[in-house]
Amino acid sequence: MSSKDWLEKDYYAVLGVEKSASSDEIKKSYRKLARESHPDHNPGDPKAEERFKTVSEAYAVLGDEKKRREYDEMRSLFGSGAFRRNARGGGQPGGMPFDVSDLFGGATGGAGADTRFGGGGFTDLFSTIFSGGGGGAGGPARPRGPARGRDVETEVALDFEDAVRGVTLPLSLRAPGVCDTCHGNGAKPGTHPVACPVCHGAGVTTRNQGSFSFSEPCRNCQGVGTIVEEKCPECHGTGGVTKTRTLNVRFPAGVADGQRIRLTGRGEPGERGGPAGDLFVQVKVRPDELFGRAGDDLTLTVPITFPEAVLGTDLRVPTLDGTVTLRVPPGTPSGRVLRARGKGVVRKDGRAGDLLVTLDVLVPARLSDEARAALESFAEQTPPAAREHLDARVRRFS
Ligand SMILES: [Zn+2]
Ligand SMILES: [Zn+2]
Repeated sequence: MSSKDWLEKDYYAVLGVEKSASSDEIKKSYRKLARESHPDHNPGDPKAEERFKTVSEAYAVLGDEKKRREYDEMRSLFGSGAFRRNARGGGQPGGMPFDVSDLFGGATGGAGADTRFGGGGFTDLFSTIFSGGGGGAGGPARPRGPARGRDVETEVALDFEDAVRGVTLPLSLRAPGVCDTCHGNGAKPGTHPVACPVCHGAGVTTRNQGSFSFSEPCRNCQGVGTIVEEKCPECHGTGGVTKTRTLNVRFPAGVADGQRIRLTGRGEPGERGGPAGDLFVQVKVRPDELFGRAGDDLTLTVPITFPEAVLGTDLRVPTLDGTVTLRVPPGTPSGRVLRARGKGVVRKDGRAGDLLVTLDVLVPARLSDEARAALESFAEQTPPAAREHLDARVRRFS
C-alpha cells in the first residue's frame, strides 16, 4: 500500500460512510458491501470481484485505528493541496484527475531538494513531494512558475447561535515556516553556512566506475551544498520552524454543520513569490439544547396537553431573539407543525427561514381521582376510534 494510493483513493466513499463514522459503522458497512460483492455470490462477474477487492482494501486501512489516523492525517494535510497544485492552469474545480506519479517522479530529480525541514515521521516522508519541484526531471513538461503555497485545512467548532447569526472568530493556525532568526539558512546569527568540504558546494558527488561516471546527491550535506557549523538556536539548524499565525475568519449567518469554507489565498505562502494556497475551514456546529436546524429553518418541539390540543390554545414560545405567540386551533393532532414565518436563520441578503414548532401531545402517566373520573365520563361520551379497516385483517387470524 503506497502513499500514492492513499492520496488518490477516498476509502470513506468506497465504504459509503462519513469521515466521522465510528469504527462500528465502518465495520457494518464493510461487512454489507463485502457480502454483496463477494465472488462466491457473483460467480464469473469481474466487476463484482474488482469491487470486492476495492472494498477490502478500504477496510484494511479504515478498519485499523492506527492506519486510519495516518490516512486521515495525510489526506487532511496533503489531499486538497495536492489536487489543486496539479489542477493549476487547468482550473478543474475540485477536480479528481490527479497525477500523483508526476509529483513523486519529480521529487527524486531535483538534487537541491529541500530536505532541511525533514526531521520527523510524516514530514520526512512528504517533504520530498512538496519540495518545490524546481525543474524536476520526470513528468510531462509543463510551464512552472514559482510554486504555489500549500492549501491548509482546519476545523472550527461554532456555537449554535453563532452559526445562525454569523460570527467572526480568530483562528490560530500552526504551519511550517521559515525561521526568522537565521532566515532559513540554519546557521547561528553572525555565522554563515560554509561550502560542503566533500562536494565543494556542488551538492552532488561524482563517482567514476570504468568509463561511466555517476552523479548522486552529496551525503555529507544532503545535497544542499553547504553545511552549518554552528546551528541556529531557534530552529536547531533546520532553517524551519512551526509558526502560529492568527487570522480573523468571518462565518456568514446560517453557516451549517459540515460546511467547508474556502478562504482564497489564506493558506501557506508560496515559495519565492509564488501565489499563496487556500485555507479550508471545516465547520462543526455544536447542538443547541432547545433548537434544531433544518437548512434555514429552526425547529422546536413544544409539549401540549390533550385538552389544549382538543380545545385549542395560544402558545408563547421562545425564538432565538425573543418570543412569538402561536395559535393552536381546536382539534389539532399530535405531531402538527406550526410555522412562525421569518423567525429562522436570517441571511445576509435579508431572506429568512421560519421557526417550525412541532406539537407533542402529552399523555399523563398519573391522574388525580377527579381527573380520572372526568376522563372516564369523557370516554363514555366518545365514539370508538375508527379501526374497522384493521379489525377486518385481525379477524382473518382469529
Ligand atoms: Zn533558524
Ligand atoms: Zn556536500
